[in-house]
Amino acid sequence: MTQRYNRQIRYDAFGESGQHQLQHTHVMIMGAGALGSHCAELLTRMGVGKLTIIDMDIVEESNLHRQALYDEKDAAQMLPKVVALKEKLECINSEVDITAVYQELTNTNIEAIINEYHPHIIMDGMDHFAIRYLINEICHKYRLPWIYGAAVGSKGTVYGIDYEGPCLKCLLETIPSTGESCAINGVLPPVIYQVASAEVSELIRWVSGYGFSHKLLTMDCFKMNFKALNMNKLKNDDCDVCELGEYKLLNHPRQNKIEKQCGDAFLLRFNQKLFDHVDYLPVTVVRHNPFAKVMRYDDCQMTVFKDGRMNVYGIENEQQARALYEKFVKCLK
Ligand SMILES: [Zn+2]
Repeated sequence: MTQRYNRQIRYDAFGESGQHQLQHTHVMIMGAGALGSHCAELLTRMGVGKLTIIDMDIVEESNLHRQALYDEKDAAQMLPKVVALKEKLECINSEVDITAVYQELTNTNIEAIINEYHPHIIMDGMDHFAIRYLINEICHKYRLPWIYGAAVGSKGTVYGIDYEGPCLKCLLETIPSTGESCAINGVLPPVIYQVASAEVSELIRWVSGYGFSHKLLTMDCFKMNFKALNMNKLKNDDCDVCELGEYKLLNHPRQNKIEKQCGDAFLLRFNQKLFDHVDYLPVTVVRHNPFAKVMRYDDCQMTVFKDGRMNVYGIENEQQARALYEKFVKCLK
C-alpha cells in the first residue's frame, strides 16, 4: 500500500483491508453542492476507487461561502459544478476515477442513471427534501445502501440506510423535514462540514465491513448540540418501501412544468430547443457559455440550461410563474 494513505490505514478498524475495499468501491454522489462537494473531496483524498457525481447547477458566487473547492473563477465562467469539481478533484488525487454527470436527477431518469453507472453505494448531497424519497425507493429496489444527509440553518442530520431499513419512509415522523431551505433560512458553513464528515464516516464503517451505525445523527453547529439516536426500533412494519416494496414515486414518474424553488425562485421546464432559441424571447442575454445563458426580463433574472430548464429569480407567486411560462412557450412556437 502506498505511503499516501498510511495514516488512515494505521487506524486499526479501517486498516489495510478497509483501504483495499475503499479503492474497489464505486460511490455515486447525488448533488455537487455544499454536501456533495465536501463528501467528494474527502473521498478523493482518502483514495476511493471510483466516484460518479451528478448535478445540474452551475457555480454561482453565492455558493462560494460553503461549497468545497469552487472558486471565483468557476463562478465567473459559469462552469457546471460537476465540471469544476472533477477538475479540482483530479488535481488532488489522480488515482481516483471520476465521472461527472451534468444532468438533473428526476423520477424519470433516476433508474436509467443507476442502470448506466452501477454504483455500489449512494451518498446524498441533494438540497431539497422530496427527491430523497425517490432516492429511498430506487436504493431499496436495487438493494443499494445509501447515506442520507441534510443541512439547513445551523442544523444537520445524517443517517445510513440499508436494505433492511428502517428506511427514510419509516422515519418520516422522526426526521425533521419541513419546508426549510437554505435560500430562505440560510445555512452556516460549519454544519455542512459536520454533515459531510458524518456521511463519510458512515461510508468508512460500511467499506470496513462494520455496516452503518443505525444511528440518526443530529447536530446544531450554533447551539453545539450533537445527538445520536438509535434507530433500530423505528422500523415501520407496514412501510411501503422497505417492507412492502411499493415504489410509488418511481412507478408514477411525473414532472411538473413549473416548480417552486428556494426563496423567490421558480424552475420552469421548456423543450430542450429553448437553449438554442432564446433569440425568440423578449429577453436580454447578459452572459452565456456552452452550458448556460443568464438573461434579464422585466425585474427577473433567469438562467437557461442546455436541457431546457430555466431558473427564474424574482418571481412572487405561482400565477406569475405560469404567466411567464405560457408567454415564453408562445414565443417559441
Ligand atoms: Zn421503511
